[in-house]
Amino acid sequence: MIDLEQVQLTVDELEALRLADFLGMSHEEAGKQMGVSRATFGRIIEQARKTVADALIHGKAISVDGGNYRRVDPTTNRVFLCDHCGWRWEEPPATGRPKKCPSCGGQAFHRVAEKG
Ligand SMILES: [Zn+2]
Repeated sequence: MIDLEQVQLTVDELEALRLADFLGMSHEEAGKQMGVSRATFGRIIEQARKTVADALIHGKAISVDGGNYRRVDPTTNRVFLCDHCGWRWEEPPATGRPKKCPSCGGQAFHRVAEKG
């Protein structure tokens, strides 16, 4: 059994990679999406890329953990998952079905049950 060395990627860094590199958002847009300034987003994505590059170059495993990612409270908010881009977000109760995915604008999404 091979014991891989691990690098840590925070949930925030993973989200930054998803928004900027996978969805191709600008730092401005992506920062807005994550609720941080463009400069802060720039720092997060820079660290994320460095970590991923380190893992790829040196064959390390990537472990995703931590960050300030907001956890969903299933008792108050409803959770939706976009079928198109995989974006997961929450809506306050009794506000009706959202019109579109806040990430990609697509309309193919469904409600999911979030486990505590
Ligand atoms: Zn989407």
